Amino acid sequence: MKYVGAHVSAAGGVENAPVRAKDIGAKAFALFTKNQRRWKSKPLSEENIEGFKEQVNELGFSMDYIMPHDSYLINLGHPEKAQLEKSRNAFLDEMQRCEQLGIKLLNFHPGSHLDKISPTECLRKNAESINWALDETEGVTAVFENTAGQGTNMGFTFEQLAEMIDQVEDKERVGVCIDTCHAYAAGYDISTKEGFDKTFQEFNETIGAQYLKAMHLNDSKRELGSRVDRHESLGDGEIGIDAFKFIMQDEQFDDIPMILETPNTERWAEEIEMLYSFASENVDAE
Ligand SMILES: [Zn+2]
Ligand SMILES: [Zn+2]
Repeated sequence: MKYVGAHVSAAGGVENAPVRAKDIGAKAFALFTKNQRRWKSKPLSEENIEGFKEQVNELGFSMDYIMPHDSYLINLGHPEKAQLEKSRNAFLDEMQRCEQLGIKLLNFHPGSHLDKISPTECLRKNAESINWALDETEGVTAVFENTAGQGTNMGFTFEQLAEMIDQVEDKERVGVCIDTCHAYAAGYDISTKEGFDKTFQEFNETIGAQYLKAMHLNDSKRELGSRVDRHESLGDGEIGIDAFKFIMQDEQFDDIPMILETPNTERWAEEIEMLYSFASENVDAE
């Protein structure tokens, strides 16, 4: 079964996120568990935590399809010791917030080398950061998101993602989220059936199908291989609508959260409905 949703606002408290997800017809959702543009936020209150769990239950969501996104400030591959430590502590706080909320997945971007260390060294630091955070927590899986490869951002090729996963000790608690916009911007042409199949064959061979824990469904404002991260509403960008049909009709993408991060929030309900309609076009499932 497919679980589609969007990255909804948690304004006013995390307990409001499930309500907003329900309003747009989502079966999965993402959220920020703290202000994503600040290093420090106050801890979650009992009211936040209990309220969140209650809403998740009452509105019929499953914790298997809820995946927060971490703060944009965090760089788990930072070349400098003090900054790396700051990022690691902030990431641990994010993992602990998930633990408190009963959430099983945390999505984050691999860090950047900032031209101060080699890509290999940066990938190693990213993996070490995850090993440390996994040691300090229980029950939460760290989900690397593929990036568009802007600037010195790592994790834009399947090889880089595999290199990090290889160095993570607890293979049960690490995975990958494929963002369709980022993949396209990084040069993976998922816009045609041939390119799409080739991309995921490469994913399965390089990383392994078992590591695909989530998807971000976004069209791309920028062209194939641009290495620029600009999301667009589904069907309005360079990828086009077919890729999203391929996803909705492929069993490989069953039973994982699939999250819209498209820019026009007014269209989310419509986009979710459209995606589910693509899934039902697939008649040979019966
Ligand atoms: Zn992201
Ligand atoms: Zn994303």
